[in-house]
Amino acid sequence: MGSALRSPLGQPLGLTLAEQETERIASTIETTIAEFIALRRDLHQHPELSFNEHRTSSIVAERLASFGFDVTTGLGGTGVVGTLRRGSGERRLGIRADMDALPIQEQTGAAHASVNAGVMHACGHDGHTAILLTAARYLAESGSFDGTLQLIFQPAEETGKGATKMIDDGLFERFPVDAVFGLHNWPSVDAGHIGCVAGPAMASVDWARIVVRGKGGHGAQPHETVDAVVVAAHIITALQTIVARNVNPLDMAVVTVGSIHGGGAANVIPETVELKLSVRAFRPDVRELLRERVPALARAQAESFGAQAEVEYHLGFPAVINHEDETGFARGVALDTFGPTHVDPAFRPRTASEDFAFMLLAKPGSYVFVGNGDGPPLHSPHYDFNDAILAPAATYWVRLAERFLA
Ligand code: ZN
Repeated sequence: MGSALRSPLGQPLGLTLAEQETERIASTIETTIAEFIALRRDLHQHPELSFNEHRTSSIVAERLASFGFDVTTGLGGTGVVGTLRRGSGERRLGIRADMDALPIQEQTGAAHASVNAGVMHACGHDGHTAILLTAARYLAESGSFDGTLQLIFQPAEETGKGATKMIDDGLFERFPVDAVFGLHNWPSVDAGHIGCVAGPAMASVDWARIVVRGKGGHGAQPHETVDAVVVAAHIITALQTIVARNVNPLDMAVVTVGSIHGGGAANVIPETVELKLSVRAFRPDVRELLRERVPALARAQAESFGAQAEVEYHLGFPAVINHEDETGFARGVALDTFGPTHVDPAFRPRTASEDFAFMLLAKPGSYVFVGNGDGPPLHSPHYDFNDAILAPAATYWVRLAERFLA
């Protein structure tokens, strides 16, 4: 904005009040952003798996303390909460970032690539942590708000256990909030664009393991066996009918057989075949239908061939259901911060899952998506967080906090 015309007060001419506010915050954040890009890359280089975020959480705690936050560590294992009170306001805002990495061997070839073999920040949680720390510094040094800010740095999102563990450890009793907000970067959405979805925003996820038990034997004498491979094939095909024929076409459901293992030689009919499934839905009643149909169908199919299907069904986490009012608020902040060109009014829910769902069951709030720009998808060994969205996303958190605690 160096060459833009400015008013006598230094505000660029022709900008609305909201735009001037964004400009003021963004230009201050810009002066500190190099530090946080370096921090993000350092976190990327030293990724830690779920509940092992020891280095990460100590960096987070140390930074928060240096900005002037009251810091609580060890909540839900490696979780950290930074608290900052200002004025006499009674409103309390929670903002959450996740900190953990994935068991993936990085293949980006980046200078800041992971030095921990088989561990990688392939979901951008390094970025989410850096975004919230960038906002934390601004809010501590220049933030204009009245009330209490609770910045929640959560472990173990990837295993779906971290949010629950923090909540069980007394997160919202010890650090009460009136609402809680979160974000996730999203590849293939234009960099810095914001997506807000009221209601179901991300899917529930459950897992099933099916072991098909037949009767093994010689590959030349199938008539003397019960071929678990053939039975498994029929089960996989039959599972497709759940989404096609049982779920209301207007509802979303996903049944994915992501793993199949059985046999070891071309001329041997194996005794067992193991299938692993992930099962997703937006609505609780659809989730329940899937939970009922997957085992029933697998067992009945197996039985019809004289085999058995043993089914273990593990409940993962519920759908992320954004609250109406808080999502309207988050969308309003996004529109004010970035303008209508950067907030897609028709942004659609995502079928991935997030354990922030548990926080939204405990407190009102909203989870938004921030475009990461073109590039490999989340959980790809080639993925990297886009540092260009650090400053805008931090600006978004600052504006949201200042307005929530106005
Ligand atoms: Zn993630």
